[in-house]
Amino acid sequence: MCGILGVVAKTPVNQLLYDGLLVLQHRGQDAAGIVTAEAGGVMHMHKGQGLVADVFRTRNMRSLKGSIGIGHVRYPTAGSASSLAESQPFYVNSPFGIVLAHNGNLTNHKELKDAMYRSDLRHINTNSDSEALLNVFAYELQKRAHGFQLDSETIFDAIAAVHQRVRGAYAVVALIAGYGLVAFRDPHGIRPLVIGEHATQEGTEYLVASESVALDTMGFKLMRDIEPGEAVHITPEGELRSRQCASAPDLVPCIFEHVYFARPDSVMDGISVYQARLNMGDNLAEKIRRSLPELDIDVVIPIPDTSRASALQLANHLGLPYREGFQKNRYIGRTFIMPGQATRKKSVRQKLNAISVEFKGRNVLLVDDSIVRGTTSKEIVQMAREAGAVKVYFASAAPPVRFPHVYGIDMPTRAELIATGRDAAKVAEEICADAVFYQDIDALVQAVSDASGGRITRFETSCFSGEYITGDVDAHYLDEMENRRASPLSKESDAANADLNVGVAEQNLM
Ligand code: AMP
Repeated sequence: MCGILGVVAKTPVNQLLYDGLLVLQHRGQDAAGIVTAEAGGVMHMHKGQGLVADVFRTRNMRSLKGSIGIGHVRYPTAGSASSLAESQPFYVNSPFGIVLAHNGNLTNHKELKDAMYRSDLRHINTNSDSEALLNVFAYELQKRAHGFQLDSETIFDAIAAVHQRVRGAYAVVALIAGYGLVAFRDPHGIRPLVIGEHATQEGTEYLVASESVALDTMGFKLMRDIEPGEAVHITPEGELRSRQCASAPDLVPCIFEHVYFARPDSVMDGISVYQARLNMGDNLAEKIRRSLPELDIDVVIPIPDTSRASALQLANHLGLPYREGFQKNRYIGRTFIMPGQATRKKSVRQKLNAISVEFKGRNVLLVDDSIVRGTTSKEIVQMAREAGAVKVYFASAAPPVRFPHVYGIDMPTRAELIATGRDAAKVAEEICADAVFYQDIDALVQAVSDASGGRITRFETSCFSGEYITGDVDAHYLDEMENRRASPLSKESDAANADLNVGVAEQNLM
């Protein structure tokens, strides 16, 4: 998972991209990058590992000249040693100077990479599927471009060809030197992408972003979502053109954005993330009422921050008090990303501390957005007990996570997922809770669908259901993917690529 931004403005965009990436920081804390383009087509790039505030210094910002640009924050993938090599945007210099940043994951990455060498005669230097995607796009543009003249229709034809060749999830922003900004979304619209406008005296400025919250805070007005399969081209002069480039577009957005990933103040595909989470709370409350008729719960306590909206609504629905029982240290990164189980365990304690008055002598219902490995939940249940809780119930606003996520959300292998081979009672035993209540999958879909006013009824739910919308993910694919994740070899080659790429982290591209 990552966050992407693209902008065509009337004034320099370096600060705007920086501020926008800060707002999207929750979508990736591993690396950040910005590329800007000047009127003549000269592009400038700076990218590096770490948080946005650490990657960009004043001197880097000064070098990012131009009024068109794209930005990216990268989400860490477990066990990868290749962060710098795989930080985005990526660059190619033929048939034009093109830079691209991508949110999502391509499921036929391996086949694409093979085809690059065999027939497209293009070298891919990293294990990043975004580099492969960029090269497919560049190759398809090259086939259609005549000399130095490039028009929107040719760009759209190339994107239509990308849709034919590429499988998986992708929301993309790209710059073509001298020709402006391009943005497109896969034919299922799995990953989100919105576009907004800002009227100035010199004309309209456009901002494309993973989440609408970036538009709000940058002073842009949300125009709409980029449709599944649709491509948008904004010329350097600020002219907006768009075309549907997929033969059978079919919106099936990722439900995990609503469960965990997106900020609650974002609206994606017309769905308020906050409203979706409130609805999850209502539906989960009903499940708890059915499963625990005696309702011997004194207090509902959220695990900050994501679960707050669901927990609040759940408490209201059941007529139970909602209290804050954990204080979070905001200055520690998401615990999920720490390498190694021991570090992860320790960092839960560093990040959260129990407020004992809310626990002492009470039966508590803790609410989290999801249970993945169960490491966090187990530690938190123990903290609740140490703080004096009598009974500790645990509710998850999402159903059991039982399958890998192949569309861009980092999920552990099946063996590491606590719900693999365990029902709620067994998970409760494992995390030492008195009971665990999971949202039912239909109830989750209903909650998010209701937040769309019933407009959207299908969602990408693979990590709960094992059903993969792109139709190309089977047991063999999952086995191979899990083996790759576990393989020390892939880490070694990633590390080699990282070394090879160290020198390109900052450069003037033309
Ligand atoms: P655990 O069960 O210990 O693996 O951690 C689950 C917690 O991590 C959940 O409560 C979420 O807040 C958070 N979480 C869930 N999925 C992810 C993810 N893909 N990346 C980072 N954090 C996640």
